[in-house]
Amino acid sequence: MSNFIHSEKPIRIERGEGAYLYDTDGTEYLDCGASYACTPLGHDHPAVNEAVHDQVDRLTFVQASYPVDARDRAFDALAAAAPEGLENVWLCNSGTEANEAALKFARSATGRSKIVATMQGFHGRTMGALATTWNNDYRDPFEPLIGDVEFVPYGDSEALAEAVDDETAAVIVEPIQGEGGINVPTDGYLAAARECTEDAGAALVFDEVQTGMGRTGTLWASQQAGVVPDVLTTAKGLANGLPAGTALCADWIADDHGPHNATFSGGPVVSAAVDATVSTLVEEEVPSNAGAVGEYLRAGLDAAIGDDVREIRGEGLMIGIEVKRGANRALRDLALDSNLLALPAGRSVVRLLPPLVLDEDDADEVVDALSNVLGGES
Ligand SMILES: *Cc1c(COP(=O)(O)O)cnc(C)c1O
Repeated sequence: MSNFIHSEKPIRIERGEGAYLYDTDGTEYLDCGASYACTPLGHDHPAVNEAVHDQVDRLTFVQASYPVDARDRAFDALAAAAPEGLENVWLCNSGTEANEAALKFARSATGRSKIVATMQGFHGRTMGALATTWNNDYRDPFEPLIGDVEFVPYGDSEALAEAVDDETAAVIVEPIQGEGGINVPTDGYLAAARECTEDAGAALVFDEVQTGMGRTGTLWASQQAGVVPDVLTTAKGLANGLPAGTALCADWIADDHGPHNATFSGGPVVSAAVDATVSTLVEEEVPSNAGAVGEYLRAGLDAAIGDDVREIRGEGLMIGIEVKRGANRALRDLALDSNLLALPAGRSVVRLLPPLVLDEDDADEVVDALSNVLGGES
């Protein structure tokens, strides 16, 4: 067996369209995982596919030091979509790589080493990002990691302010924790993070790898708190399924970023997909659809299964349902009995991250499937 890392599901996927996937028998599945939020526009979106086909026929790759139109368009689209002041765009290939860059940039720009991260946080699996990831299961076999990382309880503004001092290079935090269980922080938490990092001269890094690209109802989740960090990272949905990540940086970070780079940074094909994805999200106001349909879906879930589960939480189309039995059993039943694909977040949370083009009829289908599987639990 050559595939030694991924455990495989009993469904072989053949093709996708919009919010649906089809297996080799032609069975249709409503995709409420979007393969970890990687297809915000839905599967096989025509604008992205066309941009990729067009670029592949022209030029697949050239190193980043030669300007090419596709990369310039990706830069422009991201700079226009970035929170004000974060128009310095660095492109890479994944979420962990975007966070790795953010941490290195922050160390270089501040000349300090200490990183403050949050309990239950997830920032990726390469050595640097892993050192800021909370879950010991991911870390233990690989210790020692980079060191000088302090973890504080998520959502606790006082604990954060206490941990941040004049040796702190960066605070890295998700606006809503994804892998950790769809944890929404208390109001004012992101603003408090902004204040204490500014006071200490430390960089504030928002990891929007999962919350970004419109998932929570605005292009960036941190917009809803009205807080702009020094570095905003995103990946997952950035190229609607192609491997792409980005670190959007403030001037003071970009001006002193240090010798960091990557060979595949902003390759033309991936850049074409980034441009098409970001432009389509913005032009078609997909984030506001995510906000509206997300609200509709959560209201439906509350009414149908609110009393049968421990909690339903989230924002937009980033929804966590804390179930009373193991999440994996519920997910298996959802897939095999109700043709609905979703994700776990930890042991007890069923996580919904559907494509952001979901409509109200799809949402009704989600409610039906979840009430079939989770309704009447005690
Ligand atoms: C998935 C994720 C990452 C890691 O992204 P990869 O592309 O898998 O490296 C980092 N941060 C958050 C919040 C994530 O959800």
